[in-house]
Amino acid sequence: EWKKEVIVRDEIDKYLIDGKDFIDEEKIHTQIANGKNPDPEYIRQILQKSLSIKTLAPEETAALLNVESPELWDEINEAALLVKKKVYDNRIVFFAPLYCSNLCVNNCEYCGFREENCDEKRRILTQDEIRKETESVIDEGHKRLILVFGEHPRSDVDYMVDTINTVYSVYRDAPVSGREANIRRVNINAAPMSSAKLKRLKDAGIGTYQVFQETYHHETYSKVHPANTLKGDYRWRLYALHRAMDAGLDDVAIGALFGLYDWRFEVMGLLYHTIDLENRFGVGPHTISFPRITPASGSSLSNNLPHQVSDEDFKKLVAVLRLSVPTAGLIVTAREQPELKKEVINLGCTQTDASTRIGIGAYSDQKTEEDLDKKQFTIGDPRDLDDVIGEVAEMGYISSFCTAGYRCGRTGETIMGMLSHCVEGKFCKLNAVLTFREYLNDYASPKTKAIGEELILKEIAEIEAEPYFSSRPHLMEKFRAEYKDILLGKRDLYL
Ligand code: SF4
Repeated sequence: EWKKEVIVRDEIDKYLIDGKDFIDEEKIHTQIANGKNPDPEYIRQILQKSLSIKTLAPEETAALLNVESPELWDEINEAALLVKKKVYDNRIVFFAPLYCSNLCVNNCEYCGFREENCDEKRRILTQDEIRKETESVIDEGHKRLILVFGEHPRSDVDYMVDTINTVYSVYRDAPVSGREANIRRVNINAAPMSSAKLKRLKDAGIGTYQVFQETYHHETYSKVHPANTLKGDYRWRLYALHRAMDAGLDDVAIGALFGLYDWRFEVMGLLYHTIDLENRFGVGPHTISFPRITPASGSSLSNNLPHQVSDEDFKKLVAVLRLSVPTAGLIVTAREQPELKKEVINLGCTQTDASTRIGIGAYSDQKTEEDLDKKQFTIGDPRDLDDVIGEVAEMGYISSFCTAGYRCGRTGETIMGMLSHCVEGKFCKLNAVLTFREYLNDYASPKTKAIGEELILKEIAEIEAEPYFSSRPHLMEKFRAEYKDILLGKRDLYL
């Protein structure tokens, strides 16, 4: 009965054109085939278009995906990094995922949480446990959390709203300075839902709503998501973020699970998804994720993947996504090994997680992933936040915990417009410095603090020398005052 009520057919049909969705497989295959042996001059023109911060046309992305010459890939990678610097400067945004339950009514072939895998260890966190998990995550130094829910009547929208309220209510004293600390932005990764339920999430104050299509290839989608499950409905999922936009949630995040089907096709699917959102709502996705499938407990599929993506192809897909959708944040997760994460940060990734625990209750239990025999996937980078922040600071990247945009109304179309004119990046640079300053004072180990202090001074010198800022004396005055106030112990100051 519960399952029957979840899918609202009208909320799919209203987005179809002539009964079709926006993934035209034949067209995508033809575009990929026609893009073979691209003229290097054409590729350079595409790079210039990307550098002017414009979403690429599918034919242009298809041409990039077909480049074979290593020299041309060097040019592509260089352009990808330049695009990232233009839009996002040299900052990396950090977040932590919090898995609230591993109860799920679906049976996705690749997932350790699927219903058939069910045993007595499956559970949902109580609000008291959510509070404890949040305390542990805050104690690491995080300010941004993504709550992950399985699809199940026990983790319905009422539970989600309670959980969001619980997370926002937790305050802690930071371990080094004793200053007050809390989670300032809660994002949600949850199953597709109706506009009415999405409005409730918006009212609860979420930041981004994230739904991954997993694979854009219809047949593969049907193979790995049994038809008798809720997730078996491809289009209910495909239009989840359209419904979110209609419900007023204008920060949405898309993603594909790479390894289920051809990686070039999935990149095209992500681009078509972006273009459809941009055409209908004037704004594309806030972020794009591209996790690669990894072994999950009890999943037969993990060992039988003809489309597994190699490290080399993974780097290519990151660079092509960076160029194809210049304004979207790109997320590389702790599924990947530290060395590869470093490489793709230099190809355009802008966000990552750290100190990640994917078991239910694993942050407060201090359980390692090896202790947990039922998990959704395996992680490649179990390091603490402090270690990762130290590493990216050595690479010249400033860690940001900024949540200002969302709280100042710089979301959706507003933020995307600012990003495409490379203006939001300027605000973010200031806010990144302020939140990094907080982190260094409140949480950093002596080693990370030493590296961070050097970097932050360099950043401030760059800000002082930047014409955009010197022509805005009031903004600079406020920035200098807030930086000083943070050193004196004030917190949560932003621009
Ligand atoms: Fe459930 Fe998500 Fe796992 Fe599918 S991938 S079984 S929907 S938790």
